[in-house]
Amino acid sequence: MPKFLSGLMGSVSDLFFPKICQGCGERFETGLSNILCLSCLNSIAAYEDPVCSHCGMSLPPGAFEDAVLSRCRDCGDGNYHLDQVRAVGPYEGPLRIAHHGFKFEGMEALGGILADKMVFSSPPAFWEGVETLVPVPLSPERERERGYNPAALLAFEISRAKGIPWRLLLRKTKSTRPQMSLTREERLKNPKGVYCPEEGAKVPSKLVLVDDVFTTGATLEECAKSLKEAGGSWVGAVVLGRTPRYF
Ligand SMILES: [Zn+2]
Ligand SMILES: [Zn+2]
Repeated sequence: MPKFLSGLMGSVSDLFFPKICQGCGERFETGLSNILCLSCLNSIAAYEDPVCSHCGMSLPPGAFEDAVLSRCRDCGDGNYHLDQVRAVGPYEGPLRIAHHGFKFEGMEALGGILADKMVFSSPPAFWEGVETLVPVPLSPERERERGYNPAALLAFEISRAKGIPWRLLLRKTKSTRPQMSLTREERLKNPKGVYCPEEGAKVPSKLVLVDDVFTTGATLEECAKSLKEAGGSWVGAVVLGRTPRYF
């Protein structure tokens, strides 16, 4: 179709099917696909420092002044396989709307914009020396059902932005129920022992796991455990959104 005609068709369709922002309810022309206006998209802000050195939760200024470990109350002094999580922000508002469109409404094209938010919400020191990005795998059945793995799409986009290779180093050995549909106790048990490295995979020393939403951290913790048992020495994770409570 000639350019002037497609432009005209666009204005006609905007007239009859205006884009209404799911964040603020206002009509808009420029924004994230047809779901968020530019102002709501730009309101997705990164967690501000100080953040917990383990789970990435943002805490009030001065929270770690007298602390030995700069961790939030939920992480305490526990031993974890996962070394550091960075998240764009709490899983709510425009971030949740954008994620929903990306994961459940077939808007895979949003992956690049969301991955950019993940890159810019993590300080340069977090990425230093990272050899490989590892998406959290879906079970083969779930991936067939959905047609793609949202975490792999984000890893691909982050890899492009940061110049760090990504690899499907882990596989999921059996299907589990979606974490977000479970109680907290069930979430902690659900992913136990279901992730393992791909056969014959050589696991580098410094890795970053990529996932979309952090609920209890149990899935990422299992993935980190499996990577460390296979040779990884530092395993971080970067996620889009996290539910406000860690455990
Ligand atoms: Zn809006
Ligand atoms: Zn924490």
